[in-house]
Amino acid sequence: MEAEVLTFRDVIIVPGRAEREPGEVNLETSITRRHRISVPLLSSPMDTVTEDRLATLLARIGAVGVIHRNMSKEEQAAMVRRVKEADPSPSAEVPAAESLEEARQAAAKGLPSVVLGSDGRPELVVLPAGADYRVLGVKAELLYDLLASGVKPSLDEEGRLLVGAAISPFDVDRAVLLEKAGADFLVVDVAHLHNTNAMRALKRVADRVGAEIIAGNIGTGEAVVDLLSILDDRLSGLRVGISSGSICSTGIVAGASMPTLTATINARLALESAGLHGGIPIIADGGIRGPGDAAKAIIAGASAVMAGRLLAGTLEAASRFVRLEKGVFKTYRGMASRGAMERRHASDRYSRPSKKLEEGVEGLVPYEEAL
Ligand code: IMP
Repeated sequence: MEAEVLTFRDVIIVPGRAEREPGEVNLETSITRRHRISVPLLSSPMDTVTEDRLATLLARIGAVGVIHRNMSKEEQAAMVRRVKEADPSPSAEVPAAESLEEARQAAAKGLPSVVLGSDGRPELVVLPAGADYRVLGVKAELLYDLLASGVKPSLDEEGRLLVGAAISPFDVDRAVLLEKAGADFLVVDVAHLHNTNAMRALKRVADRVGAEIIAGNIGTGEAVVDLLSILDDRLSGLRVGISSGSICSTGIVAGASMPTLTATINARLALESAGLHGGIPIIADGGIRGPGDAAKAIIAGASAVMAGRLLAGTLEAASRFVRLEKGVFKTYRGMASRGAMERRHASDRYSRPSKKLEEGVEGLVPYEEAL
């Protein structure tokens, strides 16, 4: 029995004396044993969040996406391939113009463009008059700052964009195909991996693929110890937090949960005891409401956070638009919600539901909710 569990709401960061200015802070972090990124954010593998479009954008600006698995393995592999083949430059988000004059002409036609300096770095973003051009829900002024600050994309050893892909521990074929397609790391995507069957199955996956594996979700130190004993050095990262997502109803349906903050602390303590803290990154997943929660998770021992809701309202997310009288929204649903489960069984007629209970809800988030 845990003595105390903490959610992001239960703790505050006491404002201490700052020795650095915000611009001087380096957020670079590890997400697996081998891969590092400069923005400590992974997008959730959910069918209203991460497909190739969002994954490409996130990697271009220094974060990374994890492509969801609610589709055939061939479709998912094709999405991974598209990210790997994409132009890695952050300014590829906005078409480049040779000169200011060319940019002005593009703007007159209603198109944004970026003027590159002699060093090939973006110097200026030119927008059509009255346009509300946004990337990830952030207005163009910020996009300009981002491009001009020389943001570092997340790249593999060969200079291609980094991308992760979700797997089931029971689907070796999918993992093999995703690795072949170029996925840099595989993210186990089950609500509770600390299950003897699931962990043994994952070992069989790990024996067949060379790609790094981020395993989860887990919530306790015991789960870390068991995963280490089964996977050993094939364990490349931990995805922690049970039943803490904004669309999650597991806590109500199953009664089991471990808030992301305590799950992070539990994982850190277990890794410290094993002498592995820092070597195996912890990804804090679920319930991140904004950068403040990410800061709390990182203080608790996480290397990076994973977010679904925060990204679901953006243009680049895989969600659908819904226009209501109140405004424009995008759909967002849990992967164990009725809609997501129906899509799973429709796309893969061989998949058998292991449980019939819904453990997620479906809803709407305002379009272009800013990060
Ligand atoms: P959010 O960022 O708070 O919206 O949480 C996203 C996280 O919720 C995902 O990364 C998953 O770990 C988790 N999740 C996704 N779908 C479901 C579901 O249907 N039930 C419970 N948790 C879910």
